[in-house]
Amino acid sequence: MKPAMKTVSKSDKLASVCYDIRGPVLDKARQMEDEGHKIIKLNIGNIAAFGLEPPDEIVQDMIRNLPHAAGYTDSKGLFAPRKSVVHYCQEKRIAGVTVDDVYLGNGASELIVMSINALLNNGDEVLLPAPDYPLYTAAVALSGGTPVHYLCDEQSDWMPDIADIKSKITERTKAIVVINPNNPTGALYPDSVLLEIIEVARQHQLIIFADEIYDKTIYDGHGHTSIASLADDVLCVTFNGLSKNYRSCGYRAGWMVVSGEKRHARDYIEGLNMLASMRLCANTPGQLAIQTALGGYQSIKDLVAPGGRLARQRDQAYDLLTQIPGVSVVKPKAALYMFPRLDPKMYPIANDQQFAYDLLAEEKVLIVQGTGFNWLQPDHFRLVFLPNTDDLAEAVGRIARFLDHYRKR
Ligand code: PLP
Repeated sequence: MKPAMKTVSKSDKLASVCYDIRGPVLDKARQMEDEGHKIIKLNIGNIAAFGLEPPDEIVQDMIRNLPHAAGYTDSKGLFAPRKSVVHYCQEKRIAGVTVDDVYLGNGASELIVMSINALLNNGDEVLLPAPDYPLYTAAVALSGGTPVHYLCDEQSDWMPDIADIKSKITERTKAIVVINPNNPTGALYPDSVLLEIIEVARQHQLIIFADEIYDKTIYDGHGHTSIASLADDVLCVTFNGLSKNYRSCGYRAGWMVVSGEKRHARDYIEGLNMLASMRLCANTPGQLAIQTALGGYQSIKDLVAPGGRLARQRDQAYDLLTQIPGVSVVKPKAALYMFPRLDPKMYPIANDQQFAYDLLAEEKVLIVQGTGFNWLQPDHFRLVFLPNTDDLAEAVGRIARFLDHYRKR
């Protein structure tokens, strides 16, 4: 007789891990698509899917390189693309970076998880923004750490609240995550804010994890400062990649740079090297694309310049959303997202996942609820302004209609 089948359960380690951008509401959208419904997707920053193709020279180099890119490489990556990242750091004035400090990854995501895993013991704390890009909270939880969220203040263009950061530091705080430009708010931090964060990190010996994956997706002629360029005495790990600025997230090409106070971090760097070795290497064609991208024409500039496609879509989404009663939005200075607020007096939402579900079911528009970004109140949502202006107008019109019904319920 066969023994009775045991249930296969997920690990307890996943108990507080959550990634709602690809969560149950997306499953529902897929099911609706299978049933023949057409959904307008404002849920994921998958740029190429909206007719914003990667630069042709990257695609052509990818094709040309494929036959010669079937082997493993060094765990940290090939020399030439890592050297191109060193040059990029020089342009961004991050001091003292050598090829040895550069790690290539299958997207920034892999390196984010790796760098957090290499650092944390059970119960160690990491300061993370609220709202956040939820991979960080998930990665800290999966590493046995405790995510501690600091507030970004909507009243001050979503700037990190430095007093709140300071109040949340404990003996166990190991690091602070700074996402600049920010997903989901579109905020871009001035040097003064970056310097304040550095001072906190300096005082409390925190590592700065700097996510700068949108550092060229910036509107209105603003510039971007790498936080690592302002702090050569604080350990910084900076993440970047091709997914957004070069519209090629499917190529899974990212990098991470360790800079600043490295002398006291030899043991941590050994941990990073070990984890980099365990995953053998990043995909080789993606590595080669990094070199092409960084050295090539920066066509993102045309998209974000006044009148460029992304700039127009941002303006349109902002104008239309702010015309809806009870909806307010901080106009993004960068990235691909907005994080609108729904006045709780007009829209008393108890469960914003249900809200996203209902919007999907009634109007076939897919957004992500604010609590999916570790925002505590159910009064925000995130949308991407990637669809063309016709689709965006249609989508925001449907959101307005849905909210009108919601109010009158
Ligand atoms: N960091 C931020 C802030 C993001 O928004 C994203 C993707 O949306 C990533 C990292 C993931 O980047 P990659 O595609 O390089 O893994």
